[in-house]
Amino acid sequence: MSTSTPQKFEFQAEIKQLLDIVIHSLYTEKEIFVRELISNASDALEKLRHLQLTEKEIFDEKLDLEINVTTDDKAKRITIQDFGVGMSRSELIENLGTIAHSGSKAFLKALGEGAQKNANLIGQFGVGFYSAFMVAKSVKVYSHSWRTAEPGQVWSSDGSGSYEIEASEGERRGAKIVIELKDECADFAQDWKIKGILERYSAFVSFPINLNGKRINTVQALWLRNKNEVKDEEYTEFYKFQAHAVDDPRLRLHFSADAPLAINSLLFVPKDNTEKLGFSRLEPSVSLYCRKVLIDAKPKDLLPEWLRFLKGVVDSEDLPLNISRETMQDKSLIEKLNKVITKRFLKFLEEEARNRPEGFADFYQEFGHFLKEGAALDYTHKDQLTKLLRFESSLTEKGKSTSLADYVSRMGADQKEIYYLVGPNRAAIESGPYLEGLKARNLEVLFCYEAVDEYVMNNVREFEGKKLTAADHADVKLADLPQAEGALSEDDTKKLTAWLKETLGERVAEVKASDRLVNSPVLALNADKFMSPHMRRMMKALNRDGADSPLRVNLEINPRHPVIKRLFETHTANPDRAKLVGEQLLDNALIAAGLLDDPTAMVARLNKLLESV
Ligand code: ADP
Ligand code: MG
Repeated sequence: MSTSTPQKFEFQAEIKQLLDIVIHSLYTEKEIFVRELISNASDALEKLRHLQLTEKEIFDEKLDLEINVTTDDKAKRITIQDFGVGMSRSELIENLGTIAHSGSKAFLKALGEGAQKNANLIGQFGVGFYSAFMVAKSVKVYSHSWRTAEPGQVWSSDGSGSYEIEASEGERRGAKIVIELKDECADFAQDWKIKGILERYSAFVSFPINLNGKRINTVQALWLRNKNEVKDEEYTEFYKFQAHAVDDPRLRLHFSADAPLAINSLLFVPKDNTEKLGFSRLEPSVSLYCRKVLIDAKPKDLLPEWLRFLKGVVDSEDLPLNISRETMQDKSLIEKLNKVITKRFLKFLEEEARNRPEGFADFYQEFGHFLKEGAALDYTHKDQLTKLLRFESSLTEKGKSTSLADYVSRMGADQKEIYYLVGPNRAAIESGPYLEGLKARNLEVLFCYEAVDEYVMNNVREFEGKKLTAADHADVKLADLPQAEGALSEDDTKKLTAWLKETLGERVAEVKASDRLVNSPVLALNADKFMSPHMRRMMKALNRDGADSPLRVNLEINPRHPVIKRLFETHTANPDRAKLVGEQLLDNALIAAGLLDDPTAMVARLNKLLESV
C-alpha cells in the first residue's frame, strides 16, 4: 500500500470511550489541554537530549531544543510545535491510537472502578494528548521522527472514532500539533489567553517556550538544581516570581528525598505574616508539580493547615504513575507527601532554633501562632511542635524566651509540673498575687501573653510527662514554707476567715489562709474549674448582652500581711468599717485576677472608705 494516500484507522474501543468523556467534560477544565501538550513536547525534547549523547545520526541535528506555540485568532487555530524525537508512522499508531500509555489507562481504570463521570478527574489525571479534543474540531499531528530513515507523516482526526495517517513531505524533526478550535473554544486562539495558561502551568519547563515568537518561560525550576550551586539572589528572585511576592523570603528550605517518594522541594517562609497584620486567612499555597509541570497551584491537603503560611514548590516524579490510579490512592499519595514534607520542615525549624536562635526568635515572633495552632490541633505533629514553642518566664529577661525543654532542664528534682500564668503582659503577671508563692519556692513560671496561649496549654496538656499547670488554678498545691514571724495565729486566722465568709456571702465559695501569698494580702482563685479568668473574659466579650454567670471565687488571705493583721483587729473593734475593707480586698483580688466585672460599686465604696480618713 502506498503511504501517500491517507490510511484510515479505527480508534481502540477504550480510546473511543475516553474521547467521549473528554469531549463532554466541563468547560472550566478545558485549558489543561495546553499543559498536556506542552508536557508531551517537553518529554519529547528531553528524550532527544538523551539521544544526542548516544546516537551518531539524528535528523535535523541542528534544530534548537525548543517549543513554539502560535495562535491565529482569525482561523481559530493553535499550533504547538517541538523539535523533539517525533514519531514514526508506527509510533503514531501505537501512541495516539491505542491506550498503551499510563495516564489515560489509569484514568479509564478509575472510571471503571466506579468513579463518577467526573470532569474533575480529567484535570487531575491529565488524559494527555486526547485532552486536545476538548477544544478541537480537528487535530493534526505533523511529525518527523529523529530517525533519518523514517519519512514524515501527518496524523489527523476529529475525535469521533477514527483517524487517518498519510505521508507528508518537508516535515522537520519533532511534532507539530495543529488544533482547529471549536467555535465555542475560539478563545484559545487568543495570544493573551494562551500566555496566561502557559505562565500558570508551564513556567518552569526547561526548554524555551515561545508564544508567537516571544519567550514565555524565563525562570528556572530552581528546586531541581543542586543547592550548592544556587545563589541567594536566585532564590529570592524565584520566590518573588513563584509566590507573586514583593518581600524577600525570611527562611528557605531546599531539599530532596528519594524514599519513600521522590521529592524535590523548595519552601519559603515569607517575611511577614499577613494574617497577623489583619489580612484574611491564608490559603495553602505550596504548589504541586510533577517534573516541572504544575499539577495544582493550591493543593489543599499537601500540607497541614497550620503550614498555610509556607510558599514554594513540591515536585514529585512519582505523581504521574500514582496520581493516575483511583482517587483513594491519590489521597494516600498526597498523605505520604504531606507526612514527609511536614516532618522535614519541622526538623528544619528545630535546626534553625538550635543553630540560629536569634533568627528563629524573629521567625517565632512573626509566625509563632501557626506553631501554637499546630501544637494545639495537629495531634500527629504535636510533640515536635511543642518543642518549638517559646515563652518568657519568671527566670528570663523581658523579651527573651525559653523552650519547654529548657524549662524542664531547670526543674528541681521534686517539681512535678510545669507552671504557667496567663496575663496581658509581663508587668501585669509580675505584680499580680499569683506569682509570689511560686517564686518564693523557686518554681519557674512561664508567662503567656497571647489570647490563644491558654487554649494551647490546655490542649498540649503535658510535655515530657510533666503536666502543664495554670499557677492560678485552685488545685495547685505548693510545698510548705517556713512560717514567717509575726503572723496571725492559726486560731485568729480561722476567726477572720469565718467572719469574711459570712460578710462576703454569696460572692465567695470559700475563704482560707493561703500557702502561696508572700507580699500580697489576698488573692482570688477561680472556684469554677472549667472556666479560667481568661476564658471568662473571652466569653464575656463574645456574649456582650447575655446574662453573666454569677461569679464565685475562693478567697485566700495572707496571715502575715499587715493589712490582714489590721483587719483582724478592726473586725471586732469597728465591724462596719471592717466590712468595707473586706469587700474592697475581695475586689482588689478580683481585679488582679481579671475577674472584676463591674467597678461602679467599688468606686462608691472607696469613696466611703476615704471619708473616714
Ligand atoms: P503520556 O504523555 O502520559 O504518555 P499522552 O497521551 O500525553 O500520554 O501521550 C501519548 C504518547 O504519545 C506519549 O507517551 C508519546 O510517546 C507520544 N507523544 C505525544 N506527544 C508527543 C510529541 N510531541 N512528540 C513525540 N511523541 C509524543
Ligand atoms: Mg503526556
